[in-house]
Amino acid sequence: MTYDVAVVGSGFSAIALTINLLRQLGPERSIAIIGDDPGFGRGTAYRSEFYLHRLNVPAARMSAFPDQPDDFLNWLKEKGRKPIGDYFAARGDYGLYLRDRLASLIRKRDDRVAVDFIKAKATACMMPGEADVEFHLDNDTVLRAKHVALCLGVGNAEMPIASDLVPQKMQHRIIQNPWRLGWLSSIKPDDDICILGSGLTMIDQVLSLRSHGHRGKIHVISRRGLIPHAHATIKPEPVEPRLPAESREISEILAGFRSQVREGADWRGLMDGLRHRTQYLWQELNDAQRSRFMRHALAWWNIHRHRLAPPVWSRFRPLIEDGTVTVHAGFIREIREADGRIGIRFRKRGTPETHEIAVDWIVNCTGMERAGIAHSPLLQQMCETSVIGMDRLGLGVSVDARSRICCPDGTVRQRLYAVGALTAGQFWEITAVPDIRNQAKQVAEEIAGELTGGAELGHRQSA
Ligand SMILES: Cc1cc2nc3c(=O)[nH]c(=O)nc-3n(C[C@H](O)[C@H](O)[C@H](O)COP(=O)(O)OP(=O)(O)OC[C@H]3O[C@@H](n4cnc5c(N)ncnc54)[C@H](O)[C@@H]3O)c2cc1C
Repeated sequence: MTYDVAVVGSGFSAIALTINLLRQLGPERSIAIIGDDPGFGRGTAYRSEFYLHRLNVPAARMSAFPDQPDDFLNWLKEKGRKPIGDYFAARGDYGLYLRDRLASLIRKRDDRVAVDFIKAKATACMMPGEADVEFHLDNDTVLRAKHVALCLGVGNAEMPIASDLVPQKMQHRIIQNPWRLGWLSSIKPDDDICILGSGLTMIDQVLSLRSHGHRGKIHVISRRGLIPHAHATIKPEPVEPRLPAESREISEILAGFRSQVREGADWRGLMDGLRHRTQYLWQELNDAQRSRFMRHALAWWNIHRHRLAPPVWSRFRPLIEDGTVTVHAGFIREIREADGRIGIRFRKRGTPETHEIAVDWIVNCTGMERAGIAHSPLLQQMCETSVIGMDRLGLGVSVDARSRICCPDGTVRQRLYAVGALTAGQFWEITAVPDIRNQAKQVAEEIAGELTGGAELGHRQSA
């Protein structure tokens, strides 16, 4: 059988696309969702059961449907939650919401497109002719489809130190991927821990440790030692940013923002005001400007843009204040065995001075890999066989402004799409639900238009 659409992946991007395809396609159509995730639809982000693992976007902006903005709020109310004000729901609740919504759409199957969930990992992709795309799955089957959307997410970032620099005896005390459940049970209450990375993942893991009874010392090391800001308890009004008329130099854009803040604009309001323009702004930057942004401004962007829910901040902040958590800005120089523990020698940022700490565990919280393909054998194979091209700056897969995949020579593949953070090279601001759900709707419209042989749709991904 050849499916009309193969959706590869099983996180939010895949679910959002499928929900939109279900609304767009007629009952004669077929969709296969290929995913290896046991918590289908929840992905890394929404499978946590811990109540302090909260959304970092208010519930009012997390509906799966751009045209039904209150849908998630209504679901929360149905479940007895009280989403008052800027309510930051538990991420586990959001995962349940997504599964509920998908299940109820699929239940009404009589007049709907047929959907098959295939629990497998896609290992290779071939395009033998012009007609179909073939996926080889790790259950030794081959799946064919006319249209394909890659919704693979991005992997966990590699450790910021080469693994051969870590003594063999110490390797088992390094948690490479804290999202794999189970590691917390190995930690003794008084163990000292070093977390690499100081972003949202670090904060999640510190709170998980505390709730599992950990009482030891936690060192955090990152290059700049910056930790995310929190959302304001009372949300400020968005402020329209003043962008330089002629220039797209990052330094000038930032200087403009700083002067707006000096004149009294609320910085959170300014970040929120910039949000609807970020994709356009990114697309106006050339490669050199984008590289400069990533080199010099990314760490600052992340802490201002991806903010903490207030209840999370109020749990985390006292741990900094009472010295349980110490954040160091520095660069790791050496990891060695130190009397049965792990000795970490690092240079402090801005000084030649080195410093050494001894801990029992190292936890890699450097966050998501920024849209590379190192985590995915499938993407690597597709890249090696020129089915897909890479973004010039390594920000995932090369796509056009309609999310269609581009080959290494720049040719657009008409029936291959990518959705989610893999498309960061084209859109940049494409990791959070409010952006992905728009992209998913637009890709579903494109696919539906192609399947019905209709004229090209006027509705386009923001270019
Ligand atoms: C901890 C965390 C918290 C977050 N919190 C928020 C938030 O509060 N609000 C917000 O808007 N955004 C948040 N995000 C951003 C988040 O990235 C998106 O909201 C969204 O979950 C991304 O979904 P995705 O489907 O693109 O990727 P993922 O969720 O990573 O899903 C990709 C899926 O593809 C599967 N897959 C990969 N390779 C293959 C293969 N070869 N074959 C088959 N299946 C494969 C994986 O198993 C996985 O299930 C958070 C992200 C993280 C990591």
